Amino acid sequence: MKIEIIKCLEDNFSYLLIDEITRSAVVIDPSEAEPVINKIESLNLKLKFIMNTHHHYDHVGGNKELKKLYNAKVIGFDQDKHRIPGIDILVKNDEIWKDGIFETKIFHIPGHTLGHVCFYFFKENALFSGDTLFSLGCGRVFECTHKEMFNSLQLIKNLPLDTEIYCGHEYTLKNSDFCLKHDPENKVLLTKIKNVKNLLSVGKPTIPSTLGEELQTNIFLRSKNVKNFSKLRDLKDNF
Ligand code: ZN
Ligand code: FE
Repeated sequence: MKIEIIKCLEDNFSYLLIDEITRSAVVIDPSEAEPVINKIESLNLKLKFIMNTHHHYDHVGGNKELKKLYNAKVIGFDQDKHRIPGIDILVKNDEIWKDGIFETKIFHIPGHTLGHVCFYFFKENALFSGDTLFSLGCGRVFECTHKEMFNSLQLIKNLPLDTEIYCGHEYTLKNSDFCLKHDPENKVLLTKIKNVKNLLSVGKPTIPSTLGEELQTNIFLRSKNVKNFSKLRDLKDNF
């Protein structure tokens, strides 16, 4: 399975998962249709599935157009079926969904929204974390408690250290300011920031990160308890 990163809107990432033998593809969180269509056409692929981590417009904006154009099926969390546009296939927490070489575990990780899920492609060790875990940050807590978000991040923390993290936004450099403020002596963080700046200066995405790297640098993953996490989340909201 090959993973192509597609930049969408201002700072969103959509991801195209490709079976290079059959040329079939899955798109994760198509923010908008056009850049996804361009990539599909340029690589001569057949889009079979659309997966959404959550219902926000910048993650589902391309659903309907792509579904219509390619006759693709939309996959989303069963408890969010009322707000995922064009949903066809309902998946549950802890379920494994499979089609051909595409095989993913679904984890319900509430916090940013009530029905947020992530897709863990365990054979490739790749996690599509939507707006729950970012590189050097985490999503805002809109529909849940801080405790729920904290617990969702704990679940992710238990995955293998070399898990690649593909998140919903290019926020890494912005996030680094907050991490640095609260963790100024962290050498791994300083090195990561240097790398991030280098990547951005040549127009490359800072994604994927790895879980091991995030555990060493991401202040939200490093917070030890809900109280500490809540405090940081509140500070970040007003940063
Ligand atoms: Zn969102
Ligand atoms: Fe988003």
